[in-house]
Amino acid sequence: MSRSKSVLTQLLQIFPQWRPQMYFKASLTALSHAMEDQVLAGSEQPLVIASFQRERFYRQEAQRYRRIAQKSNQVYVLAAPETDFKHRSQDYETIAFDADDPLTKEWHLIVLGKSYASCLICQEKSPNRNQGMTTDMDNNRRFEGIWTFDRQVAQQAANILLKTIVDYRPELAEKAQQARDRYIPSDFLQDGDPQTQEVDNTTWDVTNNNPDPFVQRLVTYLQAGQYKLIKANRSLSAKEHKERLINSVTTAIRLSLDPDEILQVAVQKLGEGLGVCRCLVYRCKETDTTATIEHEFLNQGIPSIKGQTWPLQENPLFQEVVELRDALTIDNATNDPRLSNGKGNPSAQSLQTLVHSCSILSWMLVPIFYSGRLLGMLELHHCGPKPISWKEEDVALVNAIATQIGVALIQAEAYANLQDLNEQLEALDRTRSNLVAITGHELRTPLSTIQVCLESLATEPDMSPELRQVMLNTALQDAERMRKLVQDFLTLSQLESGRVEWNIEALDLHECVELSLSNVRARHKETPLPNIENLVMEELPLVKADGEWLVEVLAKLLDNACKFTSEEGKITIEVSCHSPHHLEVTVADTGRGIEPKRLETVFDRFYQEEGALRRSTGGTGLGLAICRQIVSGWGGHIWAESQGKDHGSQFHFTIPIYVDQMSSESAYPTITRSPQGRQRARGKRQK
Ligand code: ADP
Repeated sequence: MSRSKSVLTQLLQIFPQWRPQMYFKASLTALSHAMEDQVLAGSEQPLVIASFQRERFYRQEAQRYRRIAQKSNQVYVLAAPETDFKHRSQDYETIAFDADDPLTKEWHLIVLGKSYASCLICQEKSPNRNQGMTTDMDNNRRFEGIWTFDRQVAQQAANILLKTIVDYRPELAEKAQQARDRYIPSDFLQDGDPQTQEVDNTTWDVTNNNPDPFVQRLVTYLQAGQYKLIKANRSLSAKEHKERLINSVTTAIRLSLDPDEILQVAVQKLGEGLGVCRCLVYRCKETDTTATIEHEFLNQGIPSIKGQTWPLQENPLFQEVVELRDALTIDNATNDPRLSNGKGNPSAQSLQTLVHSCSILSWMLVPIFYSGRLLGMLELHHCGPKPISWKEEDVALVNAIATQIGVALIQAEAYANLQDLNEQLEALDRTRSNLVAITGHELRTPLSTIQVCLESLATEPDMSPELRQVMLNTALQDAERMRKLVQDFLTLSQLESGRVEWNIEALDLHECVELSLSNVRARHKETPLPNIENLVMEELPLVKADGEWLVEVLAKLLDNACKFTSEEGKITIEVSCHSPHHLEVTVADTGRGIEPKRLETVFDRFYQEEGALRRSTGGTGLGLAICRQIVSGWGGHIWAESQGKDHGSQFHFTIPIYVDQMSSESAYPTITRSPQGRQRARGKRQK
């Protein structure tokens, strides 16, 4: 039963000079009600034909039509059924048309009386998806058509609709004919086919056909008001959409403190929200040459560029964004001057290749800044088929999201730093607790001995002079041990805290070795020492270090070698040169050796093979830790080697060669500070 042409199309074929006008739904409702009211208020029995698109629209007006039907027996209501609307002849005639009839998209109301005639013939326009209308869709419905008091138009429209009514309900043919006889003059209709009608259009004056210009003006105002309302609604819903998107991105990225997750979520939400073909985000600094694309959002069918190296220094667009410190948009990459003069310009050429390989047609680049520091870039690509014009509000939205990403990245960075700091603090706290425990023990042991000795001396007046001497010597030895421990402890903490002022100078290594040897010998006057052989050549390049600390390292290594080597054993000091930049000093002994798995641990604070709490060889367990700190102070390395237990040990450390700035050559000894001068300086530091 369905017909192909709408009533409006048929009517416009008869009256080609009529121009359809746009009506909002609210205006049509007002007009329809006014027309119906005219029937209800009048004393005529007019022909009324109302076509409602769907049953649900008719339902709201059903009561009204029952009242209208009391005024006239020529009332016809048409609608596409949804529940129980069907062909019926009760108060008035109802016609249920097919679901695919063009009437489903039309809104008609015709009122034909003796003294008045009016008609409303409209067709609904399909909604425009790009308008982003999400709220109040019903009020935004738009129609196109004719509303007039012109009797001829109303009669033609009535005739077309009466034909449709009879098509659906042939049993109403007689009633429809009665309506025609009564309301539509026969000379006007001739053979009854509206498409073959000949209407004298020359007599038409569209503006004068409306009996009441005031009503016309009222409708115009109504329309204008409605239009403004819709515009306001649209901008409000666009704003709402923008805020929702910003909020959803912000909420999502604030849930994480992992920068990668933040960027992925942001790019995903933004890409989805704006419906772009491709959305990228990468981290970069202003000076970076390239960036790697690690986070992208892709719409269906768009090629991925994840993992690709993105040019930055050679990319004029990136450079422009950095310079402007603002977003940049390109509506059509095929004719943008920055990309078109590729021939003589290699960077424009490479950009063209990029545009081609990534199918970029419209481009937006938005920098992510935080406190003036560039953290990354957001890119939106539209890949066709046609270019798009980026709107200012789109740029503002992406800018707002870029700001949020910046904040989230900084928060994540701060959190990571905080975590690092926490770990360092925890480690420091553990070290402090260990130190307190070990230092406490180290100090208590000699202190108890001293206390016992002194108490015995004080309370035992009859003690033999020999025993008295032993007691005194023991107390003195332990007091010395305590002094050394405190001194080493202070030295180490001074070195570790970086509070040491290095006095770097050109030094004669041979001289420093001699000095440290004499120190060691002086300290071990009383005890027999193993044979110590100094194999350091006199003709060596000068080294660059702090002399006092160098002697300290040598003395500590020699002290250890003496401690852990029996008097039958042997100690050698050698210097070798494996690189033009540094010398390697080796202190080797034939003593008790070190297990291979302990070669690194010996440099830990308080490490002693016997265990921290069972020392027999004397020493503080801080010597090698101090040596490592000193050697790293001049940029050298220190390490131990040993074939294992009872196979002796070798301690090596490197020291930079002094380069004469004038000649750029290694310098050889001329004058360095005298050993006595060093001794004085060392004494000064130890105070
Ligand atoms: P200390 O010698 O005061 O105990 P160090 O830090 O100088 O402390 O040495 C740590 C540990 O390394 C020593 O206790 C010892 O176990 C081991 N060690 C150091 N030098 C030698 C060496 N020449 N031969 C064997 N073991 C050594």
